Amino acid sequence: MTGSQTIVVDYKALPKIELHAHLSGSISRQCLHEIWVMKKAAGETSLQDRPFFPLFSSYIYNLINDAATLRYATLSVLRDFAADGVVYLELRTAPRAMPGAGLTGRLRPDHSGHHRRIDRRHTPTQASQVLLLAKHFLGRGVVGIDLGGNPAVPLHPAVGLIFEEARRVPGMGMMLHFAEAECSASDAELDMLLGWRPERIGHVIHVSDRVKRNIVRRPGIGLELCLSCNVHAGMIHGGFESHHFAEWWKVEETVVVLSTDDVGVFGSPLSNEYALVARHFGLNHAEICALVRKGVDVIFGGEEEKRRLRSILCMQ
Ligand SMILES: [Zn+2]
Repeated sequence: MTGSQTIVVDYKALPKIELHAHLSGSISRQCLHEIWVMKKAAGETSLQDRPFFPLFSSYIYNLINDAATLRYATLSVLRDFAADGVVYLELRTAPRAMPGAGLTGRLRPDHSGHHRRIDRRHTPTQASQVLLLAKHFLGRGVVGIDLGGNPAVPLHPAVGLIFEEARRVPGMGMMLHFAEAECSASDAELDMLLGWRPERIGHVIHVSDRVKRNIVRRPGIGLELCLSCNVHAGMIHGGFESHHFAEWWKVEETVVVLSTDDVGVFGSPLSNEYALVARHFGLNHAEICALVRKGVDVIFGGEEEKRRLRSILCMQ
């Protein structure tokens, strides 16, 4: 590449929306270190300072184990996204019991929402408890419900009933981790998931041509695509240029939303995800702007929020 012809775009300054970010996976190493220092000084942890990568999620689980720490980490995550130019954020997390004050909508900044996640490991009883919580906090921070967790865990057939019930709750958004791994991507499972009528599906990696046609038959469906996560975690074969973003971003019936999934783990902020698609798939600035603006259609924040975003996102 010749330097004289390179146009440098500041993707941090570009106002963006993030719809697929996990709270615990979005916590920066720096923030985890700060929490460790505080807990160590208070004699509240026997954990080591820096975890090895494979132990990362259990480390976070053990370190972020009370309401005050959760609040500290959440605020840090919100600041990080804001500093990266994210003007609307939906964070997702699985509820868990913790000592300290109950979780409330107070953690919510003006323009973000949370999802309650149903984990694939959950029994129908646990899943219905998650839905109850989500209903309780709907409109007070919670905007929707998600299906996530280890894709190798088979779905309990009765969990479908919970999502069908969720679908009948007015104002409750629904997004699902979808065809994340081959083991969770049989046509039967994906047909069932689409049958719950989610507004958005995440990852969308291992899909047959038949399922692709079924996705396109749901015009307006959101596809949350996480390039760095998929490449760095080896979820797709090949590098960025073989990512299925190439296949979907021009499909008129779908709304592709670039997402980070776990920026604390993969180290690629949303601004970098836009830089990546510009570099590997040749999107020009107008196409980048159009991509961000189209994503607004599938947020769960309501019509007023959509109007606010359309007034501040780039217009080119
Ligand atoms: Zn995810």
